[in-house]
Amino acid sequence: MSVPKPKTKMCFYDNHRFACNDWKWGNFRQHCHAEYRTGETCGMKMVYQTLPVAEKCQMCQKIERKQRRYEKHRTDYSRWAAENPTKYRFSIEKAVEEMKVLAEEIKRLMSEKQARYMAVGNPRRA
Ligand SMILES: [Zn+2]
Repeated sequence: MSVPKPKTKMCFYDNHRFACNDWKWGNFRQHCHAEYRTGETCGMKMVYQTLPVAEKCQMCQKIERKQRRYEKHRTDYSRWAAENPTKYRFSIEKAVEEMKVLAEEIKRLMSEKQARYMAVGNPRRA
């Protein structure tokens, strides 16, 4: 039997669940009993309790802000193109450029979000 190591980062944690269904770990709550006996660190995080959060997570909020900006440029673009494409040529070009940049950023944020939740995996229920 090995000497029990101090356990500081394992077992049961609060789980904050956002409106978008994404989540993050909260405060450490307690060790799991099995691991307490063996003195091994399980290194596993399990859900102590799920705390609902009314708003969406930071990542989703960021993505939504960019989507709204994208939508605004798209609306402007259609309006200018319908009204007078020649007169609004430069505005149209600028809107198209902005949309391209925003579309790239949205794509990047979405894959970042996906990669993060894939890496962590779904929280285990205690
Ligand atoms: Zn989210």
